Amino acid sequence: MSFIDVKNKNGTADKNPPAGYKSWLDFWESKKGKKATTCEVLTCSGEPDVGGHVIKSGEGSKEYILPICYSCNNKPDDSVFKAWENDLEPVK
Ligand SMILES: [Zn+2]
Repeated sequence: MSFIDVKNKNGTADKNPPAGYKSWLDFWESKKGKKATTCEVLTCSGEPDVGGHVIKSGEGSKEYILPICYSCNNKPDDSVFKAWENDLEPVK
């Protein structure tokens, strides 16, 4: 496992999760088969409030879901943070 740089992808608030999932956080927990226990931003110990849309720094526009707190979800989209690569769940 390793850490990678990720950034918030803004403009995703109106995107609904795929059919059968209550929320993006539910989507992440179902795909990963585990409960989110903390904000996944490496330096944060907040609650996993939402399934946030993020992109890998330097990878382009491919979206991933990551459980993060409201505060981290509101970081500007040019703010880079570190997260476990294995905990990113790709959006189809
Ligand atoms: Zn956080």
